[in-house]
Amino acid sequence: MNKSPKDLVREEVLALAAYHVGEAAGMVKLDAMENPYALPQELRREIAELAAGAAINRYPNPQAPELKARLRQTMAIPEAFDILLGNGSDELIHIMVQALARPGAVVLAPEPTFVMYRVYALVNRMRYVGVPLAPDFTLDCARFLAAIEEHQPALTFIAYPNNPSGNLFPEADVLRILHAAPGVVVLDEAYHAFAQKSFMQRLAQHPNLIVMRTLSKSGMAGLRLGYAAGSPAWMREFDKVRPPYNVNVLTQLVAERLLAHAGVLAEQAAAIRGERGRLEAELARMGGVTAFQSDANFLLLRVPDAGKVFAGMKERGVLVKLLHGSHPLLAQCLRITVGTAEENTQCLAALRASL
Ligand code: PMP
Repeated sequence: MNKSPKDLVREEVLALAAYHVGEAAGMVKLDAMENPYALPQELRREIAELAAGAAINRYPNPQAPELKARLRQTMAIPEAFDILLGNGSDELIHIMVQALARPGAVVLAPEPTFVMYRVYALVNRMRYVGVPLAPDFTLDCARFLAAIEEHQPALTFIAYPNNPSGNLFPEADVLRILHAAPGVVVLDEAYHAFAQKSFMQRLAQHPNLIVMRTLSKSGMAGLRLGYAAGSPAWMREFDKVRPPYNVNVLTQLVAERLLAHAGVLAEQAAAIRGERGRLEAELARMGGVTAFQSDANFLLLRVPDAGKVFAGMKERGVLVKLLHGSHPLLAQCLRITVGTAEENTQCLAALRASL
């Protein structure tokens, strides 16, 4: 008799829900923190030429030396620290979890936060401990330090700024966590282009600190490239778990070229920060909406009936992220990505009409 998935699939996997991505064709897409701007025509032409000349019959260079050198220079990654590349930072999270997934080992993170820390921890049979944030999404540092003391995590994730709340936890609190945590602490700086605060230059002071980032929010979500910087002792071990050809030929070529034009990306990030300010100001004037302070390229909102607002905005052609139901602290919450000026105007109108 054939066995069914229920008989053979691990219970941790059966219990999970697949990562949900909404259908977005024809919509103003403000659900996934993408950069809304297209690349300048001249840069598109350069990319087309690169793609035409790419050796796609060959496996990629597993070390991606040109791309790593460009990243080191553009992102000011200190010489003494190694770079690990991932097929998105999603994959880097998975690699680090896999390397540290000894039986009984703990992954610790504030909650709510990026859901994949928990998913990868559970898939790899680690124990996941989520420490609730305060109701206004600020870090309850004493509670977090007590959880470190109690659970002695092998791996702690801090998204800086946090997703989905958008806020940066105080630097002094992060430093206290770095001093208290016995294991690896990953500062996930996915949104650093919008926060302009980083722990990259503090790597030397904290041997167990890994600074992780992604190019996804800076106009390259489709390329899938994440990078982490940390001490060679840790990175050597993580590199053993990395699939050797995880960053493909086209991603290596195109990301390297776009980083060579980092000024264009920086201008786009600055425009997004400006639009974030406009959205915040307009939302502050809108009755019935609470917008939480954000250092990222998105805003967390609380409305009287999030399900109704989500559906109403969708009907008006604007796709945002419904968070109600995903965590008790996110009751009646929505997350909107900052788009272009025109998209934001449409978003505000759709929101106002859907309240
Ligand atoms: N970290 C955080 C905090 C995120 O919000 C996201 C994406 N939503 C990621 C990591 C993963 O990004 P990517 O895999 O595209 O690099």
